[in-house]
Amino acid sequence: MPPQQCVEVALLAPLPAPLSYLVPPGEVPPPPGTRVKVPLGRRSAVGVVIGCGVPPEGVRLKQIQQRLDSTPLFDMAWLEFIRRAAAYYLFPLGLALKTALPAGLASLEKAPGVKHTAIYSASARDGQPGGVVQRRLLEFIRSRQGVAMAAIRQRFASPYAALRRLEELGFITRQQCEISRDPFSGQQIQADTAVTLNHHQAAALRELCRAVDAAAFAPFLLHGVTGSGKTEVYLQTIAATLEQGRQALVLVPEIALTPQLVGRFRARFEQRGARVGVLHSGMSAAERYDMWRAITRDEVDIVIGARSAVFAPLTRLGIIVVDEEHDDSYKQGDGFRYNGRDLALMRAQMAAVPVVLGSATPSLASFQRAADGAVQALLLPQRVSERPLPQVTLVDMKAAAVEHGLAQELRDAIAATLQRDEQCLLLLNRRGFSPYLLCGDCGASYRCPNCAITLTWHKSSGVLRCHYCDYQQCPDDTCPRCGGSAMEPEGMGTEGLAAALAQLYPQARIARMDRDTTSGKGSQQQLFERMSAGAIDILVGTQMIAKGHDFANVTLVGVVDADTTLNFPDFRSAERSFSLLTQVAGRCGRGDKAGQVFIQTYAADHPALQCAASHDYAAFAAQELPLRQLLGYPPCGHLVNVIISGLEQSQVEQAARQLAQQLGGAAEVEILGPAPCPLARLRNRHRMQILLKAATRPPLRRLLNGHHGWKQGLPPTVRIDIDVDPVDMM
Ligand code: ADP
Ligand code: ZN
Repeated sequence: MPPQQCVEVALLAPLPAPLSYLVPPGEVPPPPGTRVKVPLGRRSAVGVVIGCGVPPEGVRLKQIQQRLDSTPLFDMAWLEFIRRAAAYYLFPLGLALKTALPAGLASLEKAPGVKHTAIYSASARDGQPGGVVQRRLLEFIRSRQGVAMAAIRQRFASPYAALRRLEELGFITRQQCEISRDPFSGQQIQADTAVTLNHHQAAALRELCRAVDAAAFAPFLLHGVTGSGKTEVYLQTIAATLEQGRQALVLVPEIALTPQLVGRFRARFEQRGARVGVLHSGMSAAERYDMWRAITRDEVDIVIGARSAVFAPLTRLGIIVVDEEHDDSYKQGDGFRYNGRDLALMRAQMAAVPVVLGSATPSLASFQRAADGAVQALLLPQRVSERPLPQVTLVDMKAAAVEHGLAQELRDAIAATLQRDEQCLLLLNRRGFSPYLLCGDCGASYRCPNCAITLTWHKSSGVLRCHYCDYQQCPDDTCPRCGGSAMEPEGMGTEGLAAALAQLYPQARIARMDRDTTSGKGSQQQLFERMSAGAIDILVGTQMIAKGHDFANVTLVGVVDADTTLNFPDFRSAERSFSLLTQVAGRCGRGDKAGQVFIQTYAADHPALQCAASHDYAAFAAQELPLRQLLGYPPCGHLVNVIISGLEQSQVEQAARQLAQQLGGAAEVEILGPAPCPLARLRNRHRMQILLKAATRPPLRRLLNGHHGWKQGLPPTVRIDIDVDPVDMM
């Protein structure tokens, strides 16, 4: 008897390495990329076959219980990409696969079913049937090519009997078709054509098309001011890519993934027969699964998605675009802590295709790479049609006449804008009515019992809420500490600002855009539509309003408090502030009318604010990079954050000290800490961090190679999370 064959399986579970399993006798080994159900301990688990195994000597392997897919979910090139990504972020391959695959494939529950619909078409038979309903139905079906059941039901109340009859009589034929649940497919799209590029855009397009033709790895930084027509450059580059029979992958920040943006791509490409697919976290598991299947069936030419779309299983990839590449949301904050932008570079390299990173405010990392010549810079220094960038005024709050948190200058500008029937955007990067309730007698405030943070007051829903763990409680009638009077709101969030504006401008139509008002399905879309239609005069929002939107009638942008971002305890706070302010300023004056911007601050002489006010990226980089160099922070050095957490504070502290000692002494790596994380307690876990810093990657890699052994000697309840290239170190 031939020896039983075995395969290597990556279990979608927290195991450090893949395991080998036997193939049931008489069955062919499932090819790599197929899911299997396998025994793990006394339970069963899902795994993905990643290769042929060699049966180890003297070990009794267990056998695969069930094969779950008839055909592989992905090819070997894709698997190799995930393998490298997982290795880079020191994350178990199986769990990385679990993140990369659409949810629903990763558990033993049945995968979302495939949905079918009936499509009716007119047959060759001439003439007319008898009944009126039948005649009208046939006329309807004859007037188009292939009508889906849903379209028929929209027109005819109960068409079933008539349809059956028409089919029996041979007037029509019916086909069963697999359909995708595509959340964007209901939209009506008007075809559009490419605009004539200005000479900067044309020069960028030329370089990009040359790279597409060369079909080799080539990274670009498309650095174009807000409104300089970057999207138009992407669209025309992608058109050239599709002409070569290749596919495009377009990554955008989650919040910028609006129906407007998707509509722009569909308007350009669908008339030419190209199919645009969308992937993002707001889609249901079934919708994501359908899109995944459509991509693996090669039915999609352009995939647009948020960071996880970097894992889309495209096989004819010709270009990757990463729009707003500076955006922090490309980094996943927990679990598989990958950065979508960096993986886009990795993937482009492996697939030997060009990759375009686009931004008005590139990350200093990308800017530095371009300066070093590792990435080719393409510049769009002007807005399209010679529109000016908006005039920016820094309002010194120390000297301002403030009412409801707004300086006289900004209040007057709002009034004037309303008078002219134009629109305002007001940025306040804090949700809720006020950041906390404060007792005027004893100074007490409500704190989250699970996290080291105060609770935010949400007046409209009448609750105090933790923005980290979502803990909620209602406030008491009196101060719970001194029993004195009720607590009063202190400071202002978006909800509070909207209320204040309603008092100041009773005639204005005011809306709010933050995570609280956009959580419902379609609610963000509605806000956009009302904004575009001019049904909103003042839109108040968190940084959400800064991202990529194009409203022609917005002529005033106000930043209510620039200092929150600036004072964040993080070495990137100046960069973040500069980006945010430049981006939000870029939302105005995009139409024919000029825009103006007011930024309220107590630090008007801060270089990040000064540079943002003069739209001067180069000056900002020239000021900030030497500081990073001095401290060895990215992009002038490399960081890895090691987070030690557990339920007991003393245990966590002791473990962190022990680990820091163990890591100390590594050549060329600086060990900072252990220190409490800025958020020292989160969801009931105490947290300490050790920051590893090195000028180059190799010494860090050498140190990290031993990470499997770090837990040895530490209490099993203490957890270690490793964050390679951290973005947010809270
Ligand atoms: P960005 O992505 O750089 O902010 P967009 O690509 O959204 O800019 O362009 C801003 C607006 O200008 C869009 O409405 C776009 O259709 C228009 N546009 C782009 N390129 C041109 C051009 N060459 N001439 C005229 N209008 C253009
Ligand atoms: Zn909390």
